[in-house]
Amino acid sequence: MEKDYYKILKVSITATQDEIKKAFRQLAKKYHPDRNQGSPNAETIFKKLQEAYEVLVDPEKRRRYDQIKGYNRNQRETEHKEEFYGFWEFFQTQVKKRRKTPVYGEDLKYKIEITLKEAAKGVRKNFTINRFEVCPSCNAYGHPPNAKVITCPVCHGKGSVRKEKTFFTINQICERCKGEGKIYVEKCERCNGLGRINVSRDISVNIPAGIVDGTSMKLTGEGGKGTFGGKDGDLFIVVKIKEDPLFKRLKDDILLRLPLSISEAAIGGIIEVPSLEGKIKMEVPAGTQSGDRIIIKNKGMPKLESKKRGNFIVEFIVEVPVELTEKQKELLTKLENEIPITHYPARKEFKKRKKQD
Ligand SMILES: [Zn+2]
Ligand SMILES: [Zn+2]
Repeated sequence: MEKDYYKILKVSITATQDEIKKAFRQLAKKYHPDRNQGSPNAETIFKKLQEAYEVLVDPEKRRRYDQIKGYNRNQRETEHKEEFYGFWEFFQTQVKKRRKTPVYGEDLKYKIEITLKEAAKGVRKNFTINRFEVCPSCNAYGHPPNAKVITCPVCHGKGSVRKEKTFFTINQICERCKGEGKIYVEKCERCNGLGRINVSRDISVNIPAGIVDGTSMKLTGEGGKGTFGGKDGDLFIVVKIKEDPLFKRLKDDILLRLPLSISEAAIGGIIEVPSLEGKIKMEVPAGTQSGDRIIIKNKGMPKLESKKRGNFIVEFIVEVPVELTEKQKELLTKLENEIPITHYPARKEFKKRKKQD
């Protein structure tokens, strides 16, 4: 029989209260003893459902359960038996075996902001995080090794308490002693009995060239540390790429919008343009129009985990001068009179179409 409460209710570990309620309602309907007369199996399932629901729907109980994940009634009973059989051995060898439930470390999230140029080259980033680690003074037990022990007054040492339900009685882990049956009178001073302490740790991470904005990188085991064999949490680094004042990223391509003066565009020539790797020289063809593009292959963003790169695209914008003086207007008019319409391809075409209209 399934022992995990989440699996019993067929919900994920991150399920909301509503999802838990909904899942329980559906399953309880299906397995309700009234509907399944004479089927002992359905009744067992129904009891399990109630037990799982009881714990998961209550945020406080659920929190505790999550901490002691996988530690339920049946398992506990077996463990008690084992402890009983080990009783004499315990006295003979003087080896104190304390059974503790594994507690998982929590996952952590850290946001890093990098520039587009850093994303293009790849970069190593150092930062500091705070995480819970095993208390070195008490080794996660929460009390000094020689702390005074009393029998738990709630469960009288059994580690579990019986609770009456509508159809049955269940054993629940004693909340006071967390199932240990005993209570330690002294607390570890360093961690105040929590078994873990919050510490700062320096983390260094290599961000690969070509990383995409919003990527989450997982550093396995760098989150909160687990105790008593519980798995360490992971650290997730979310990489945010700052907007660049000049370059726009289009997947693996880089776009640069470059303004040209009328004469630069009309006459053409060699110009210097900024790129991700510093200035590069490029030829502007004579008669360049607004919106014309030059594509330089393999000078864009590197592709992740590949030696290939996207393209560097330069898009020209021909800019018309503004706020002209009388003299400038005069010169432009003179120039205008010098150039016949045959030298303006778009205007010529427009005129032709207008006539046909
Ligand atoms: Zn401690
Ligand atoms: Zn107790």
